[in-house]
Amino acid sequence: MDYQNMARESLGFFPTPLIELKKLSKILDGPQIFMKRDDNTGLALGGNKTRKLEFIIGDALAKGADTIITAGAAQSNHCRQTAAAAASLGLECHLVLGGEAPDRLDGNLLLDKIFDCQIHWAGKNRKGEDIPDIVEKLTKEGRKVYVVPYGGSNELGAIGFLEAFRELEEQRQSLQTSFTHIVFASSSGGTQAGLMLGKKIFNSKVELIGINIDKGETDKVPFDQYIISLANKTAKLIESDYEFSDEDLILNSDYVGDGYGEVGALENEAISLTAKTEGILVDPVYTGRAMGGLIDMIRTGKIKKSDRVLFWHTGGAPALFAYSDSLDLN
Ligand SMILES: *Cc1c(COP(=O)(O)O)cnc(C)c1O
Repeated sequence: MDYQNMARESLGFFPTPLIELKKLSKILDGPQIFMKRDDNTGLALGGNKTRKLEFIIGDALAKGADTIITAGAAQSNHCRQTAAAAASLGLECHLVLGGEAPDRLDGNLLLDKIFDCQIHWAGKNRKGEDIPDIVEKLTKEGRKVYVVPYGGSNELGAIGFLEAFRELEEQRQSLQTSFTHIVFASSSGGTQAGLMLGKKIFNSKVELIGINIDKGETDKVPFDQYIISLANKTAKLIESDYEFSDEDLILNSDYVGDGYGEVGALENEAISLTAKTEGILVDPVYTGRAMGGLIDMIRTGKIKKSDRVLFWHTGGAPALFAYSDSLDLN
């Protein structure tokens, strides 16, 4: 089946720019570094969830939903982009967020409120554990509720990154270059699963390196197995024969540090170096950690000077405001 015929709602501006980071490359005495600017997808300050939501919300509308519910951390970029998508389409939006209501609205949470979402505080449950109960209640009230999965990472969300791989291929060909590696933050798996499928379909040799962001202590399925199974389910959805196994996956867990959202020296250096050399913002939770990983892989020679690496910027900068106390700015 041609995924291009699937239900899709236009929510962002594509293709996103592809640029070269010459100054960062020079300061690291490293390889050519390119950056795919999904921080500029255009939906309410952008990010990788816009691509997934085009297919997920397309499905929700096809099914006649009038209410959307999803879950995440208090500073979830996924929730903020879902909130904006729902607002633009006149859908009621419910967000189930980890933690307790803070005294002050900031970063993504502030934007969720501006989009007029109903927020349900869920304590330790930041991955949607409380959704079924809320859906039951809303359904009893007569709402047609559609559940957007945690991080937008189901087969439909992954299709967004199959399409992203196609988009990148087109840009790569017009630049007449090739990439040896694509480095990106991986946390709910849809980005990585979609790129893995794209790599097979477009017969690419590029090495996909997902930088793990989350220790995953509460995950029922180990994250690597989850990504492989999602890639397989996505292949099935489009009726392709590709099958994925352990050898198709590179998930680098060297940089998880103290765990999800715990900002350390690695993220601080990456945020500061990317800003000072290129005038580009990476975020404290995802892209700062992944960029820190890329910088380390260049310094330690795991990525060589003769390579050509693409960093997929998946967004997240709105969280910088909420993390100001964790940033080392001296
Ligand atoms: C969600 C998110 C990711 C991770 O993408 P997944 O598809 O969930 O693995 C990376 N970066 C940012 C900024 C995100 O919001």
